[in-house]
Amino acid sequence: MYTGTVSRHRGRAGTECSCESQRRRRAVPATTPPTAASTGWGRCQPVVGGLSARAAKLGDMKNTTVLISGSSIAGPALAYWLSRYGCTVTVVEKAPALRLGGQAVDFKGATHRTVLGRMGILEEVRRRQTGGTDQAIIDAEGRTLAILPGEFTGGEMEILRGDLSALLYERTAGSCEYVFGDSITSLTESVGGVHVTFERGAPRTYDIVVGADGIHSNVRRLAFGPESQYVHHLGHYYALADVRVGREPVMYNEPGRMAAVGGPKAPAFFVFASERLEFDRYDVEQQKRILAEAMKGMGWRVPELMAQLPDAREFYLDSISRSEVDHYSRGRVVLLGDAAYGNTLGGFGTGLAVVGAYVLAGELAAAGGDHRVAFQRYEEAFRGYAKITKKGNAGPFLAPPTSGRIRMRNWMFKYDFMLRAMLKLTDKFATDIDLKDYPSPEHVRGTVC
Ligand SMILES: Cc1cc2nc3c(=O)[nH]c(=O)nc-3n(C[C@H](O)[C@H](O)[C@H](O)COP(=O)(O)OP(=O)(O)OC[C@H]3O[C@@H](n4cnc5c(N)ncnc54)[C@H](O)[C@@H]3O)c2cc1C
Repeated sequence: MYTGTVSRHRGRAGTECSCESQRRRRAVPATTPPTAASTGWGRCQPVVGGLSARAAKLGDMKNTTVLISGSSIAGPALAYWLSRYGCTVTVVEKAPALRLGGQAVDFKGATHRTVLGRMGILEEVRRRQTGGTDQAIIDAEGRTLAILPGEFTGGEMEILRGDLSALLYERTAGSCEYVFGDSITSLTESVGGVHVTFERGAPRTYDIVVGADGIHSNVRRLAFGPESQYVHHLGHYYALADVRVGREPVMYNEPGRMAAVGGPKAPAFFVFASERLEFDRYDVEQQKRILAEAMKGMGWRVPELMAQLPDAREFYLDSISRSEVDHYSRGRVVLLGDAAYGNTLGGFGTGLAVVGAYVLAGELAAAGGDHRVAFQRYEEAFRGYAKITKKGNAGPFLAPPTSGRIRMRNWMFKYDFMLRAMLKLTDKFATDIDLKDYPSPEHVRGTVC
């Protein structure tokens, strides 16, 4: 995460602002905006699926104002599409600046590739990828018990979460308004839009509000109801911390606990089984204490890692949880990414967020900004694809509950056919959607053909 004082910036990217957060914002290097050719849409590619018949309506997107809560992955990915479709987009982020922490996240299969290609970032993601590295599962003496192959742990393309977030931000900062260090406090919908009040900024009215603010979504709480109704704790917590011992990527388990360090995925990654814990999500020191307590008595070099914890600058702790909402939208408010589908840590959260942004924006464009039609179609198109979060939960795989289950998990990686079967299954989930060819942004804005 960019560090520094909490300061607020409001104003279109590119306007003059002397505040600290704006200076930090500009520290993210600018990249060349994608061209029609690089997005995979030829300038005159025909619009398929009957969408061209609605071409006249498509221009309506120009007048649509959208507020997106959350600037991690889902938020900037949606901002990318909607700004290109001509909407006026504001992204509000509670953190004082872009959060660049986290391990590597991965993409796999043709669906992910297609969407990244259409966003014009496929090559950039490839360029920044960490490269899948085999990870040794070790015993308390550091002896290798099994090897987790890179293609299993890192999908087809693996990129640090922070690098991906920065890349999406770079591609949208010039066309969207980013407001850091603020949060929505109320949402009141009327015929004309959603009236929004903020912790710090002046109230405003938007046509559409999007909750892309993660598993603990503020927008979901305000528009749908308390988190307890929608988020289901799956029995494990995970933590990331910039602590290290050695360079080689290794993973060490004891029943219900896991520590993984080294390799390009950095920082260190911990998983532990636990009942639901009550803690302050903004109190990092308290969260460090929770991790230290959970890892207490663990062998190998875990005590060395825990000794570094007080000095760790980067730290993140959260539960592995499922989010279950009966509908992704309420009126003009819609959920995207972890806020809608949850984070089960199985390597799907980021792919779902990026593909979900493409589908939601595409349906809005195809419906000429009519949120009722678009949200219904987004729901129909996406609910089946997001089912992996209903089935998956990486917790028991990463931190099996008994020594026997740890041995069984390790055993699976001894046989190539088991690995192939697991990869086939994950690839199937990642591609299980009929991706529509939505109108190209140039058509919507009336600038081509
Ligand atoms: C710092 C960080 C590290 C992560 N590390 C990993 C990892 O190592 N491995 C992994 O699999 N997944 C990780 N994740 C989760 C991963 O990014 C998501 O599962 C996935 O990419 C989908 O992203 P999302 O944008 O829907 O949600 P998230 O990535 O969770 O982003 C939500 C965003 O909303 C912001 N937000 C929260 N509350 C508010 C509010 N009230 N107002 C405005 N903004 C708000 C958050 O600060 C955050 O920027 C991490 C997330 C974060 C924020």
